[in-house]
Amino acid sequence: MNPYEIFRRAIRDLNVQAQRDLDTIWRSSAGDPAALAEILAEVVQTYGAMSASVAAEWYDDLRRDTGVRPGFSAVIPEPAIPGTTALVEWATVKATSEDSLKSLISGGLQKRITNYSRDVIMTSSIRDPRSKGWMRIGDGNCDFCSMLIGRGAVYSKSTVDFAPHDHCNCSAAPSWNPSQTQAVQNLYVPSARRRSDEVKAADAERVRRWIDANL
Ligand SMILES: [Zn+2]
Repeated sequence: MNPYEIFRRAIRDLNVQAQRDLDTIWRSSAGDPAALAEILAEVVQTYGAMSASVAAEWYDDLRRDTGVRPGFSAVIPEPAIPGTTALVEWATVKATSEDSLKSLISGGLQKRITNYSRDVIMTSSIRDPRSKGWMRIGDGNCDFCSMLIGRGAVYSKSTVDFAPHDHCNCSAAPSWNPSQTQAVQNLYVPSARRRSDEVKAADAERVRRWIDANL
C-alpha cells in the first residue's frame, strides 16, 4: 500500500474505534442530550488528538522519505472546539427516528475527528517552506469530492476551506516537488475524474460556489 493510503487507513481505523465507543455511549446516555454532548466532546478530543498526532508523524516520515531538505516539523494547530452540543441539537432537529439520530451524530463525530488530521496536514503544508501547499486525496466515492480531487489542484492559501462532509474519507497530502506531486495526482486524479464525469449538475454548482469562495 502506498503511504497516502496507509495514512487514510490509519485515520479510518481511529474512526472505527470512535464509532465503537459511540455504540457504548449510546446505550448509557439514551434520552439525555446534555450528557450525550458532554461525553461526545471527550470522544472528539481524545480521538482528535490521536488523529492529529498520526497526521503529524506521517507528515514528518513522508517528508524524510521523499528526501525533502530537513528543517521543518509538522505543526499541530490549536484544536477546534468539539462542537458536540451543536451537533446533538442539530441531529435532534433533523432526525426522523432513533436510527437516523444516531447516524447523524456518527457522521458528525467522524467529520470532527478526521478534521484534526486534515488541519495538521493543511497547516503544515502551508507553513513548510519546502511545500507548495496541499492536495485533496480520497477515493472519490462522494460526488462533490470526486470533482474537487479531479481538479488535481495544489492549494496554498491558508483560507481555503476543506469543505468536508459527514462520512467523508478525503484527506490532504502535501505537495513538495514535481515528481512527488505527480505521483499523488496519478494515484487519485484519474479515477476521481472518471467518477466526476457522471456527477449531477447540482454538485457541479456546489463545486463552482466552493471555487468562488475559496480561490
Ligand atoms: Zn467526501
